[in-house]
Amino acid sequence: MISPVHTHTHKLYNKVKNKKRSHATKPIDWFYLYSRTVSNIRGTGLWRNGLCPFHPDRNNSFGFHLRDGGYKCFAGCGSGSGLQFIQRIYSIPYHLAVRLANGEDVYIG
Ligand SMILES: [Zn+2]
Repeated sequence: MISPVHTHTHKLYNKVKNKKRSHATKPIDWFYLYSRTVSNIRGTGLWRNGLCPFHPDRNNSFGFHLRDGGYKCFAGCGSGSGLQFIQRIYSIPYHLAVRLANGEDVYIG
């Protein structure tokens, strides 16, 4: 038997879920995107590390987050969001970085 309280909660939950879905895009495969330019990727958690593509690195100074895409170089190259990484590594503007992150083929000259 379903109580009225339960039904109400259930409806609310669906509302939140639908709202979330309407804003959500396909999750970005940050591991794939970083693995194009970061070599020697190690680690098992949400933060992975590898050789920094911004400086000659031999110590896996570079870290990136699988879920939110943020990056940081502990040797001093700086940090930023995943989209900022793509802009920086390929020298492309924001709108192209967004398309590339979403799996589109973007011509990078
Ligand atoms: Zn670096």
